[in-house]
Amino acid sequence: MPFRSESSFIGIELSGSKLRAATVNNEGVIGERREDRLQKDGLVGQVAQLVTSLRQNANGIEAVGIAIPGLVNRQADRVVASRDFPGIVRENLHAEFQEATGLRFELENDANAAAYGEFKIGAGRGSRDLFYITIGEGIGGAIILDGKLWTGASGLAGEVGHITIDTEGAECECGNTGCLETVASAPNIVRRANERLYRDSTSSLSRLAMNKNFTADDMAREAKEGDDFSLMMIERTGKYIGTGVASVINLLNIERIVLGGGVMQAGELILNPIIQEAKRRAFQPCFEATQILLAALGEDAATIGAAMLARDAAIS
Ligand SMILES: [Zn+2]
Repeated sequence: MPFRSESSFIGIELSGSKLRAATVNNEGVIGERREDRLQKDGLVGQVAQLVTSLRQNANGIEAVGIAIPGLVNRQADRVVASRDFPGIVRENLHAEFQEATGLRFELENDANAAAYGEFKIGAGRGSRDLFYITIGEGIGGAIILDGKLWTGASGLAGEVGHITIDTEGAECECGNTGCLETVASAPNIVRRANERLYRDSTSSLSRLAMNKNFTADDMAREAKEGDDFSLMMIERTGKYIGTGVASVINLLNIERIVLGGGVMQAGELILNPIIQEAKRRAFQPCFEATQILLAALGEDAATIGAAMLARDAAIS
């Protein structure tokens, strides 16, 4: 059914300790927002409350999309696994959401939802094929081919964080060693910086050495203000990511690669070394056909993407 132009949708993202929700119109533009501390036990009731609250000021809510950190089987409308929220892995979750709100729901993995948001109205707009990489506490990825999420045989396609970058590298949570995530996720950037500050006395000239509990965000800020050590660490991180990006380019000959997540807040400082390294390592004709861009939607990508997935699922 074609939607009326005033139709709108709700996108919700579960992340860390928060639930972020917003109304999103037919064009992917956010209207009202709500944010709530997540109560792990009462998720369905909490989502229903947020939806009710958003519906008070929005006409014609047609469907709701939820972005979930975990493995989601969309055909079966089920969360199959979630390390952060094991309580949501249950058969009836989707039905419970629909019963509690009377609205149609779509569940999707958070990286997939963010990729879809970027694809529809962000840095992926106008492309047909897209690879999305999100780099924050962990590293996730998603593949869109011919306008549709391509999720693989069991929903896990795009796990670019677990591409091996260093065969001699550190052990990863996944059981492998030297995965991209072990060097380029936010906690691992901080770990590498700490190791180096401790090892190399000239690095202690860095302003970072004055702050015992610095974060990857602090490093990005110091780098922007010209701190040499922070700049070097961000450049090296960019090289690791670029090595992974080169593999993606060679494998998929993909039209566009969009990079988002907290670590990419460093902007051009990290994007440029990523592009340089990808250029150095990728098969040249493949590289030349690929645009590598910063994500455009920031923290809203998954919320908007979840709402757009709910819209498009309701249309089809
Ligand atoms: Zn891994």
